[in-house]
Amino acid sequence: MLAHVAALQVKLGRRLEPGEFSLHDCDNPPCCNQEHLHPGTKRDNSAEAVARGRTLRGERHPAARITDAQAEEIRREVACGKRGVYSAIARRLGISSRAVSYIALGKRRSAHDPRRRAVSR
Ligand SMILES: [Zn+2]
Repeated sequence: MLAHVAALQVKLGRRLEPGEFSLHDCDNPPCCNQEHLHPGTKRDNSAEAVARGRTLRGERHPAARITDAQAEEIRREVACGKRGVYSAIARRLGISSRAVSYIALGKRRSAHDPRRRAVSR
């Protein structure tokens, strides 16, 4: 059994139910301080991660090659769509045409971010 699960069970004085997990208030996975642990579902865990900005989206993601502003620019430019616009943008930004099309279609960036979807469009 994982140490943070054992620690929470001691704190609660009972075993975790099926579907119940030991979640961290401190966002530090190896931590097993009882005071930093509470029971919750996987869904709770995801919601808490988003609420605390623990999930990295868009340009905050370490693998991001373009900025959020550039992603916006791509969507505007593609919307005015001249022939060959994908490959022209791809050459200019040094990314693949496929990446440009994913961004333009919202399969990357905005479409995956529920906070952004809520405010735009
Ligand atoms: Zn902790």
